[in-house]
Amino acid sequence: MKIEIRDLTARIEDTPILNGINLELESGKIHALMGPNGSGKSTLSNIIFGNPSYEVTGGEVLVDGQNILDMEPHERARLGLFLAFQYPVEIPGVTVGRFLKRAVEIRREAIGQEITAKEYIKELRAAMEFLDIDQQFINRYLNQGFSGGEKKRMEIMQMMLMQPDFAVLDETDSGLDIDALQIVSKGVNKLRDGNFGALIITHYQRILNYIRPDYVHIMYQGRIVTSGGEDLVTTLEEKGYDWVKQQYGIKE
Ligand code: ADP
Ligand code: MG
Ligand code: MG
Repeated sequence: MKIEIRDLTARIEDTPILNGINLELESGKIHALMGPNGSGKSTLSNIIFGNPSYEVTGGEVLVDGQNILDMEPHERARLGLFLAFQYPVEIPGVTVGRFLKRAVEIRREAIGQEITAKEYIKELRAAMEFLDIDQQFINRYLNQGFSGGEKKRMEIMQMMLMQPDFAVLDETDSGLDIDALQIVSKGVNKLRDGNFGALIITHYQRILNYIRPDYVHIMYQGRIVTSGGEDLVTTLEEKGYDWVKQQYGIKE
């Protein structure tokens, strides 16, 4: 899968947030998107997954040449995109197990693979074991009273079962605790054995010690100001975002 983001601009209410994003992403590679708080990282991820609160004012997001901006979130998922926080809501009466089964069925149908109930259970058990999730977890109601760590487990378990071509993972700026961090990296690194790609969005370099990116992009004021390899993370860690500001003549 190839994702091309071209001249993407967006606003929230009357404030421009994205000011012309250009970015190319592909399966088989891990991209990191870094940037200071408020630079527009979460706005970009919300737009990729189709959150209707964000108004796109220009540009396009192409998935294998097809503009996805008019598609519903579930259609985007069917293409093989996995967007964390796509289902942040509590769904009364729907258990984790039932929710996951439906999500997996829809995805497998889209890629022309049937999955029997028996196979599903087998895969579910394997994923839970791998991520060290208690079997009782599948009987819980989706997101009801979930802790941050449980939400993370749910998200990564879903990602592993759905086998997406490309995932966008937006980590919260406050950072994950070490357990959650390990679950995310375990899941991503496992999928990485196949032709899987991801955009790991983060303010801090910490998660990138566990998931080593092939490419690093830095965002500032709604633009990608520079891209590079893993060494960019080290530079950023040493010199801070002020260095980026000076280097690229960013005024505030
Ligand atoms: P980041 O994820 O890089 O921290 P965000 O995309 O969350 O950045 O935010 C970019 C800018 O958009 C910030 O100035 C933020 O205050 C503003 N913003 C984000 N979400 C909303 C919202 N729902 N309503 C109003 N302003 C918002
Ligand atoms: Mg933020
Ligand atoms: Mg954010």
